[in-house]
This record gives sequence, structure tokens and C-alpha cells, in this order.
Amino acid sequence: MKPELIPPATASGVRRSLLDHYDRTARDLPWRRDTDPYRVLVSEFMLQQTRVETVIKYYEPWLERFPSVEALAAADEDQVLKAWEGLGYYRRARNLHKASQIVAERYDGAIPSDPEALRALPGVGEYTTGAVSSIAFGIPAPAVDGNVRRVFARLFDEAAPTPSWLRVVAGRFVSEDRPGDWTQALMELGATVCTPRTPACVECPVVAWCAAHAAGTVDERPAPPRKREVPTRVIPLAVYHTSGKALVQRRPANGLLAGLWAFPELNELGLEDCALSLGLTPRGDSGTLPDVEHRFTHLHARYVPAVLEVEPRPAVNLASDDDAESGAAPWPGEDLRWIGAEGRSDTALPVAQRKVFESWLESME
Ligand code: SF4
Repeated sequence: MKPELIPPATASGVRRSLLDHYDRTARDLPWRRDTDPYRVLVSEFMLQQTRVETVIKYYEPWLERFPSVEALAAADEDQVLKAWEGLGYYRRARNLHKASQIVAERYDGAIPSDPEALRALPGVGEYTTGAVSSIAFGIPAPAVDGNVRRVFARLFDEAAPTPSWLRVVAGRFVSEDRPGDWTQALMELGATVCTPRTPACVECPVVAWCAAHAAGTVDERPAPPRKREVPTRVIPLAVYHTSGKALVQRRPANGLLAGLWAFPELNELGLEDCALSLGLTPRGDSGTLPDVEHRFTHLHARYVPAVLEVEPRPAVNLASDDDAESGAAPWPGEDLRWIGAEGRSDTALPVAQRKVFESWLESME
């Protein structure tokens, strides 16, 4: 159906029925207890591409660690990535950090209520703008995520809803009186009733208006996206260790897992040559650890770790006049770090790297 043909009575009937249902059945989620804009923004960043059950474990600890925009803005990136460790998609953490710095500097720590200013913050797209505007500021703005897309596709029996169609349809249904609850009620319907597989149509508060249900096409709406082939990449890693500690290296500022700590990758260099290039002297025989597999959105990575005991170069500190005069470079420098069993909680390692680290610790017992 063309959005302009949606009768006002349909929109108000759907709204009333869904909001009643939400009032009766809404899950008690930690981010629903307070509409403080910073808290809402944090929850929306965390919930992007991540399950509610996972976010619940991170949300309160994050707010204890960074209770305000200012606290987050003042934190080091390492502390931010560490608090995000395990949530994945680390770009969100870096964007949230950058957004907090802009808000602290430009808006005196208050998240802007103007949707345009909000949309201009790093990592804030159309969906997040709609969600924060409606939930935190009570602005009647639509917010279309994957759940909402599915609900509207089924309500209107639309096989391939385009972004512009969704924008207009979602805009027609927004509640002027309770915009934040409406946003959450729609997402809740998609997450708990109108699920991708086997939706609970018999319990659905909007079944009376659902065109796909009437046509028997629920399972085909929306049409599934064409599956992309995800390539597999084998990534050899080096676990260099000495005195119960292993060497990790900060990854480049751009690309996969940018800025996070990880074991050095063995590209064109072999295990020993790579050690020498990092200022390490190989000592003893090399070994291996079990492979670790990890699926990124666009890549299936198989990490193949090799282990080698090394003799590190003595640490050189440029603060020392003697070293500065001798022209020595600092070592290990800011991009290399030794981590052992005690200090592991200070360093943010991506999930697969942490598995390699834990398996190395186990092998040393
Ligand atoms: S009736 Fe079924 S398909 Fe239609 S909106 Fe409700 S749960 Fe989804």
C-alpha cells in the first residue's frame, strides 16, 4: 500500500492497541528506567547489532565507570575500549567516545535535543537520531531498525520495503502523545512477538490490521536479503613470551579492530624474522596453539597462533638523558606491551585475541 493511502483510523487503531499492549507487557530493561539523554544514547549505541541479553551485562557497569558525558569524554581510549571489551563492533565505542568529547566541548556536556545536531555526532545515524529524539526528548520522530522494518513489511504485506517507503510509513504511525513509548513498543513487538521466524500472530495486538497475516504471506515478509559470500582469511599470529608475559601490539588506527591490542600478525615475515624486527631475540623452540575462529560481518577469520620464547631488548626510556644522547629509540614504546596473568584486565583484547591469550596461559601451566 502506498503510504499516503493509509487511513488515519488504521494508524490510530494500531497505535492505541500496540501502546496498550506495551503498557501491559513491556520488559523491565535497565535503560527503560530513566530517560536521561546520555543513558539513552549509551543504550542505543550498545544495542546496535547486539542482543538485549548481552547489552544488559555491559550497560550498568559502563555507567558506573563513565557516569556522565564529561566522565566519558575525559577517559583514555584504552579505558573506553577496555570497558567495551566483548561487546564487539569496537567502532561504536570509539564513536561514542568521540561524540562525548564533542558534546562536552560544544554543548557543555548536554546531549543536544536538536535532531540535526544529534545526527551530526559520530556514530549517530538516522535510526539513533530517531530513537534518542523520541525516547530522551519526547520528539515525535520515527526510528526504523531491523525489527521495525519487519513489522511494517508484514503489516502492509510489502516484500521489499525501501528506506524511503519505511521513512514515510513510520512517520505516519508515530505517536504525538507518547513518542518514546511508541518507538520502544514497536521495537518490542518486533523483538518479542513479530519475530523473524515463527511470529506469535495469535498474541499480536495488531493482528486485526496485518495484511501479511490475512494473505498468508507472513513467512515471506520481508523477502530475505541475498546472502553475501563471506571470505575466510587465515591469519598467522605470533605469541612471543618471556618470564610469563606475552607481547601484544597496538593495531593500526584504521581497518579491522583499529587501535585495539592484538598479537603481532605474521605476514610476509616468518616467526623468527618478525621477532627480530620487533627487537626480540628468539630463544628456544617454537610451538603452536589451537586455531581460533572468529566471524566478523565481512570476514571469517581463522587465527593460527605460533609460540616462541624470546629475549626482549632491555627497555629504553627516552626520559633518560643517557639514552637520549645515545640516540636510542624508546622500547617497547607505546605500541608494544607485555601482558601476563595479573595485568590482563588492564588491556582491551578483542574476543579472538583473548581466546589465544587464555590458551597460551593454559599452555604455560
Ligand atoms: S500479525 Fe503476525 S505478522 Fe502481523 S504484525 Fe503481528 S506478529 Fe507480525
